[in-house]
Amino acid sequence: MNNISELFSSMVFNDTVMKEKLPKATYKAYHQCLYEDKTLDEESANVIANAMKDWAIEKGATHYTHWFQPMTGVTAEKHEAFITPEGNDKIIMEFSGKELIQGEPDASSFPSGGLRATFEARGYTAWDPTSYAFIKDNVLCIPTIFCSYNGESLDKKTPLLRSQEVIDHAARRVLKLFGNQVHRVITTVGPEQEYFLIEKDLFFKRKDLVYTGRTLFGNKPAKTQELDDHYFGVIKPKVKEFMDDLNEQLWKLGILAKTQHNEVAPSQHELAPIFTLVNVASDHNQLTMEILKKTAYRHDLVCLLHEKPFEGVNGSGKHNNWSIASDTGENLLAPGHTPSKNAQFLLFLCAVIKAVDEYQDLLRISVSSAGNDHRLGANEAPPAIISIFLGDELSNILSSIEQGVPYRDKDKAVMKIGIHTLPEFKQDTTDRNRTSSFAFTGNKFEFRMLGSNKDIACTNVILNTAVAEELCQFADQLEQAEDFQTALHALIKQTIHQHKRIIFNGDGYTDAWVKEAEKRGLLNLKTTADALPHYIDEKNLRLFEKHKVYTRVEVAARYEIGLSNYNQVIRIESLTMSRIAKTQILPAVLKYSKDLSDEVLQKRMVSKDIDTSSEEAIIKQLSSYIKDLYHGYTALDEAIAHRDELTSNQEIANYNRDVILPAMAVLREGADALERICAKSYWPFPTYGDLLYSF
Ligand code: ADP
Ligand code: MG
Repeated sequence: MNNISELFSSMVFNDTVMKEKLPKATYKAYHQCLYEDKTLDEESANVIANAMKDWAIEKGATHYTHWFQPMTGVTAEKHEAFITPEGNDKIIMEFSGKELIQGEPDASSFPSGGLRATFEARGYTAWDPTSYAFIKDNVLCIPTIFCSYNGESLDKKTPLLRSQEVIDHAARRVLKLFGNQVHRVITTVGPEQEYFLIEKDLFFKRKDLVYTGRTLFGNKPAKTQELDDHYFGVIKPKVKEFMDDLNEQLWKLGILAKTQHNEVAPSQHELAPIFTLVNVASDHNQLTMEILKKTAYRHDLVCLLHEKPFEGVNGSGKHNNWSIASDTGENLLAPGHTPSKNAQFLLFLCAVIKAVDEYQDLLRISVSSAGNDHRLGANEAPPAIISIFLGDELSNILSSIEQGVPYRDKDKAVMKIGIHTLPEFKQDTTDRNRTSSFAFTGNKFEFRMLGSNKDIACTNVILNTAVAEELCQFADQLEQAEDFQTALHALIKQTIHQHKRIIFNGDGYTDAWVKEAEKRGLLNLKTTADALPHYIDEKNLRLFEKHKVYTRVEVAARYEIGLSNYNQVIRIESLTMSRIAKTQILPAVLKYSKDLSDEVLQKRMVSKDIDTSSEEAIIKQLSSYIKDLYHGYTALDEAIAHRDELTSNQEIANYNRDVILPAMAVLREGADALERICAKSYWPFPTYGDLLYSF
């Protein structure tokens, strides 16, 4: 790679390219569509489409696709060649404004949660001009939203764009009260992405990894991460080659891949981009996950994005770093230097605190999945309880405001918001406190509960909408106030008082915190089956409806899809487990035990005096574990058969949580016990040690 600045964004139809390729009037029309909510006229759309096509063909593209994000959590694409027949035996390459702006893919096989009647298979895609078109594998990809015939959103992008508008309006109302007029407020996001790399050959020998993305059997090897020798360690040449290739692919697509390092577990790594506009960050994270997998494959590796691929070894998360900024570049979550800027900061901070407290359930829902349930609360990731870490200094400042007492220095006057500046406080060094689910890290919040596999759209829809709701409430109150400063002070004080229970600076991994959180009345929604029903709590439906982010039906659809995904994942896992136990593990251990038995018989034939008691003990032990294995899969099979009689998604989810997962754990115990005593050469697939230390 010679010139990174030339390579960067070379496959993106970005603003610079548009400025260069579009007539002035068209470029202006595009900008008005972006920033002034004007619809793009047909003529301009045609001109943009044509310029886009010419540019794409120059770069080797042959096809285009509307690139969208159905509720599966991954992206979808359907390629169309640019070709149009012309005259005899000829074609020309064409792409019209209509094709750019709208598409009509068959939506029947995407999850719709009941939003789309089966007879109405059509879905519509519509261009999101805020996210640039790009070329991937010779296909021009146009980021689009995806909705049903009736206009209900069937995707992850539409609500995210809606939530962005909502927080923009709400934040501008609040800023105006501080005499701060800006054109636009945006949310910025930088998602840190963890992943595992394992050898491709070994991957395909494990049907559990192939079908479910995680190992359903296996013992922790004698050594994993105890010596902390992998975290930030020297990157192995094979991994470095992969990372170089990966960066090149990402940079070409304008993705700001910045930081890379080894993570805690062996074979685990992390990639962090520089933060950007939330919906772009969301598109980019989707692309990053796709390119991680594809690039790994080219290097004879497989990239595991599962939240918990190996039991007993750290899983992979995704940290959603989130902040609010104005179009003038001011970070609204950065403490200021003047009394007024400080007051503004405190008000935005309070909006986040109140939002997180009141919508804990929604934030928990946004990170829920069958896979992430194995990670949360497993002493490697925050528990399923949501709390905010502010650090001691900022917490002390808030509590002195709440109680009306001087901060630190007794001689100092009690702080009056809007009149005094915030006392200097150092960013807490304990912001490295990894045990907090939602940590303030100086000028942004880091939400650490997301699993590595998860799209970030859902979390940011909820953050944006919930914080916007609080900002609206604040604006409603303050706009009425006779004396702004007094009202502001009272509002901040009251908010701290009412919502301080959500602030926790201690160790989130301890049992003491679980008890304390319960005393504080915080939610502890341990599993996806527990969390999802809260989607349709009246307060949540009202929140989304008020801000027009989701209609009631759209929320209900997401609830159903979440449950159905949870159930499908556990169905696949339970069937895979039972089959592997019966068809791979059982024959392997029977063979081993037969060979041992033959050995005993042969020794006895040689001489009755040979002591075969050790071999016999091992055979007995094997037989006893084989019995456990047999009982394990028989019980699981029975449970699966019973599950097939249940009909409602929630009922099935509860059953999966209460019966199937425990039955899977019992079967696993039996199998793992066998692995510990079975000769390695007999074991039917690669072990954890093989997978984690393969190169
Ligand atoms: P760490 O979590 O390792 O301390 P950093 O503070 O460097 O890392 O940031 C981690 C992520 O947070 C990066 O993706 C970075 O771009 C992002 N980030 C930094 N500032 C902001 C911001 N204002 N808004 C959103 N994300 C941010
Ligand atoms: Mg971080």
